[in-house]
Amino acid sequence: IVTIIAMVVPEVQHEERSASQLMQVHRGTRLSLHSDNKSYELGSCVEDMLEQYGAQQFEFWKQKTLSDPGDSCACDNILLRLQDSFSSRSSSLKLDIRLEQEAYEIIVDPEQKQIEIRAISALGIFNGLQTMFQLVAEHTGAVFSSYIFDFPHHEWRGLHLDVGRHFQTVDFVKKYIDLMALHKYNRFHWHLTEDQGWRIEMQQFPELCDIAAFRDVRVESKHQKNQIEHEYYCEKCANPKKRFQGNYGGFYTQEEIKDVIQYAKVRHIEVIPEIDLPGHCLAVLTAYPELGCTGGPYRVACSWGIFDDVLCPAKEETFEFVEKCLDELCSLFPSKYFHIGGDECRKTRWKVCPGCQDTIKRLGIEDEEALQCYFITRVAKLLYEKFDKILVGWDEILEGNLPSSDHVVVMAWRDWDYAVKAAAKGLKVIGCPISHCYFDFIQTNEDNEPGAFWSKIVLDLERVYSYTPVEGIQPELLLGGQANVWTEYMPCSHAVEYMTFPRACVLAERLWKQEGTKPFAQYLGQLNQHCSNVLDPLDVSYCKKGL
Ligand SMILES: [Zn+2]
Ligand SMILES: [Zn+2]
Ligand SMILES: [Zn+2]
Repeated sequence: IVTIIAMVVPEVQHEERSASQLMQVHRGTRLSLHSDNKSYELGSCVEDMLEQYGAQQFEFWKQKTLSDPGDSCACDNILLRLQDSFSSRSSSLKLDIRLEQEAYEIIVDPEQKQIEIRAISALGIFNGLQTMFQLVAEHTGAVFSSYIFDFPHHEWRGLHLDVGRHFQTVDFVKKYIDLMALHKYNRFHWHLTEDQGWRIEMQQFPELCDIAAFRDVRVESKHQKNQIEHEYYCEKCANPKKRFQGNYGGFYTQEEIKDVIQYAKVRHIEVIPEIDLPGHCLAVLTAYPELGCTGGPYRVACSWGIFDDVLCPAKEETFEFVEKCLDELCSLFPSKYFHIGGDECRKTRWKVCPGCQDTIKRLGIEDEEALQCYFITRVAKLLYEKFDKILVGWDEILEGNLPSSDHVVVMAWRDWDYAVKAAAKGLKVIGCPISHCYFDFIQTNEDNEPGAFWSKIVLDLERVYSYTPVEGIQPELLLGGQANVWTEYMPCSHAVEYMTFPRACVLAERLWKQEGTKPFAQYLGQLNQHCSNVLDPLDVSYCKKGL
């Protein structure tokens, strides 16, 4: 007798299994759309998805993990079926109406020799497919006769990537998006600008590519002698920055950005761009020194940290620059949300800048924090009124008593306290506290363990597994959560994979299903299986230390 436990990451909400009947998904199993639904309004949407994503992915998993049909009960067909509502079997399970679009059912039926994935939308079908891929990837396709009904707990399930500190290729970004889809993440937060580099082609500001997208690595290595030891050492790439011969950097063309957005869209992932303002702007200032309080000269940052030089909010040119950038970017990125950073903006320059001090007096506001609030509020108004976007910002945007607004969302990163503060004002929040969600943090206490160490937090898998939103936030104000991948110590894509996985697998659990059904020690065995069944075939350089 072989005991088979379906190991889907994230774990499904509800599964009923009939005792011992197994069915074999094999190389000959077909994936098709139910014929009754061709006329259904969403039929073409599912067909497109099947064509552009599903069939291709299914072929991949078949080749990687499945055998020819054997003597056991063979599955002829995996059928995708759109329906108007969920079956009576699932009606006793409570389902938030907001999340119904994401829900799906899987019916494994050995008598009919088929598996059916049912949902009321293309999105639900897509989520069902992700579960299906994981099911066929394990136990070489042996699937129990079962009924699955699954839906997410949180609507916003995000994964972030900082391409400012270290640039990542379009190919890698696509791989990252594929891995997100497989774990049912639905928001890709693309952190596109930093002190160390601006990473998007801008038609109105060519200097952002010519000047702000590159930094001098010779200076960098001098500055970072004491930090380089925390960098991930990649045996595959050895010294990945060497090939840049002094000038490290890069940027995405607008065509590449469109390509990535389309790639993500087919995978039901929304790309949220972040342009970090008014702090973390040294690269911008190097190209346009007139936007700073002192006028420069500045240099694209070659070390990590927080810098004194930020945009000057007293200058109208600053707002003109921001508006022109948003004009280009908002037509490029279709997402409803637009992230403007707002974090770690030092007030050193503002305190002594005559323009900034005059502005504080003119506006009749209290101090530099209120000046920051003026900046954020003005950008939020612009985003909402001119571009119809909702502003997302790090929790520092609360400083200076940010007023309540329907079109501002706060990302609580320093602590859950900031989420509570924001929610108390009626602002929507996304939880990504450093305590559980900062995947740049070290994963073990070992010497030479790569990663950030400033918080003293060792962010191991068990800690990620225990992610729990703080109590006291109204459910309608908590959009969800996400993990952040800051790349100071990740010089190549393998480093990003090492830091992100399998921690992202584990966080996906808590974003999809609020409470785990297993103690961590028991879960760990299954996570191990998942890594070898799902991450290995995809050549992910994940961290094996906690497994
Ligand atoms: Zn590498
Ligand atoms: Zn100023
Ligand atoms: Zn995983």
